[in-house]
Amino acid sequence: MDPYSVQFVSSPVTSQHLGIYRTGMADYLISGGAGYVPDDGLTGAQLFGNGDGLTYNDFILLPGFIDFQADQVDLTSALTRKITLKSPLVSSPMDTVTESEMAISIALCGGIGIIHNNCSPEYQANEALKVKKYKHGFIRDPFVLSPNHKVKDVFEIKRTRGFGGFPVTENGRLGGRLLGIVTSRDIDFLDHASETTISQIMTTGDALVTAPASVSLQDANDILEKSKKGKLPIVNENQELVALIARTDLKKSRTFPMSSKDENKQLLVGAAVGTREEDKKRLELLYQAGVDVIVLDSSQGNSVFQIKMIRYIKDNYPEMQVIGGNVVTAAQAKNLIDAGVDGLRVGMGSGSICITQEVMAVGRPQGTAVYKVAEYARRFGVPVIADGGVQNVGHITKALALGASTVMMGSLLAGTTEAPGEYFFSDGVRLKKYRGMGSLEAMEKKQGTQGDRYFHKEGEKMKVAQGVSGSIVDKGSILQFVPYLQAGIRHGCQDLGAKSLSICRAMMYSGELKFERRTGSAQAEGAVHGLHSYEKRLF
Ligand code: IMP
Repeated sequence: MDPYSVQFVSSPVTSQHLGIYRTGMADYLISGGAGYVPDDGLTGAQLFGNGDGLTYNDFILLPGFIDFQADQVDLTSALTRKITLKSPLVSSPMDTVTESEMAISIALCGGIGIIHNNCSPEYQANEALKVKKYKHGFIRDPFVLSPNHKVKDVFEIKRTRGFGGFPVTENGRLGGRLLGIVTSRDIDFLDHASETTISQIMTTGDALVTAPASVSLQDANDILEKSKKGKLPIVNENQELVALIARTDLKKSRTFPMSSKDENKQLLVGAAVGTREEDKKRLELLYQAGVDVIVLDSSQGNSVFQIKMIRYIKDNYPEMQVIGGNVVTAAQAKNLIDAGVDGLRVGMGSGSICITQEVMAVGRPQGTAVYKVAEYARRFGVPVIADGGVQNVGHITKALALGASTVMMGSLLAGTTEAPGEYFFSDGVRLKKYRGMGSLEAMEKKQGTQGDRYFHKEGEKMKVAQGVSGSIVDKGSILQFVPYLQAGIRHGCQDLGAKSLSICRAMMYSGELKFERRTGSAQAEGAVHGLHSYEKRLF
């Protein structure tokens, strides 16, 4: 089935021998059994029909009929008109969430990362390039030494970085001519304070085993096995260092069958840009880096600036997929769809670090925003990203059930190993920084190089913060966390009786998928309650 199917489903999947027939219109007839089952619950249209603004917590989904295993649920979904992902997960363009490491890992898991633009155009384009050039198992930015480094430096780097084994190049940088390599075996018996230069002790000549840039991971594996080396420098035809392969990485290397790739088998990546004149240069660099999708980063996307930028991109880079936003109403969406967007980012004021609704008095509860925009945009084949306010995996399933094709996350992915920034401890808890891109701290980071998401009027002197800066608990690697999210979505869909996200959406629009409002006490009942203490382990 088309991953962004908007057709009504009249799926014949239910078991005939049980006498259950799915009519595609909400009522089930049970022959020879208990008789007619009355209508129960609300359709999406009914739930959002009375003008209330609802958050994900304000409603619940009613269960359907299960006749398949959870791991059979197909999570394929559209990011844009032309890009389809095997997993509906997108990491937010925030400087504490998505740079190359996050984008690589989430793409390996079947989603996509959007590189933030709170940095120079060159830095952002280089982060995108790292994703496009990523080859599984190849370290593209190894720590490199120059021949003048001292043995004591190697001990110090080993101590602070936690790894040993450094290629040595003429200029001490990646891209320089490879001269040798220093590993533990070269320095193990030396004094930790030794002033000896590493040119005197490094491994060189025939003992220096390298591989050409064209080497496959399998061949690299064989070379490491035969040579019994721990590190394999990869060099180009001029003997310049281009990458490094580590035996330890190979041992833990796994396959990623869901990974998001383009036709050249390179990982997919997106990047955020603003809508100022100078963003056109950024755009050109991102295009040259091979970015697959541009996200126009604005908290209120329905503007003449954004419309002009969409047209500019479509005129100058016709193949580039463009996501517009953010929007929360059909009227906003209309202008961006008319201008030619390939996807819409939905959300205003729902983000965990966000104070937009408080300061601007403008926004919309996220459940309503997603439903209203998706319901409109589907008529034009434009997929919707539900952006912000996702606190748990259940919220992802709810967003998808409301018509979103993908879900964008900030806080859920912040604090992971792959998120930018160092861990620090506070009160014995291991934390990372997480901040809104409209926080004063983020806006002050690099004046003049950031996008115009929250500070967009030329010459405006007074900054008005729309976000806060804080910290978030260590969540470990997304290589474990994302599979948990995927399993959670699959189980949710199974409970609904939807064997794919397309079927789930189609069931919602046909009225077969049922919802119910939750009172405050219903929400309390749905959470853990009545315990003296408990431990909440998720996977
Ligand atoms: P979260 O997943 O709930 O943490 O929300 C992340 C989303 O919040 C991002 O993808 C942005 O759409 C939005 N966002 C990021 N920074 C800010 C800010 O400073 N103010 C308001 N919204 C923000």
